[in-house]
Amino acid sequence: MRINCPSCGRNVDLDDAYDHYEGPFKCCVCKAMLEIHTEEGSIKAVEQVNIVRRASTEQVSEPVLNPRKDAAQRAGASGSRSTE
Ligand SMILES: [Zn+2]
Repeated sequence: MRINCPSCGRNVDLDDAYDHYEGPFKCCVCKAMLEIHTEEGSIKAVEQVNIVRRASTEQVSEPVLNPRKDAAQRAGASGSRSTE
């Protein structure tokens, strides 16, 4: 039986012991931790377990601007020009 790893996208061979299994499984290709669920030799669910927290790093790397304030300033600049 094979599962398609959601992390690396490759087909990973499963041992016969996993024909009826629910729990963690480590991808032998990319070493990603997966949560799999199999029943009677068929795959019911494959999910990747995210250990790395990406949200915190994204917040730091991405500067947060205020789009409303920016739009208001542009509108005010163009408005003052037209009146003069
Ligand atoms: Zn993988």
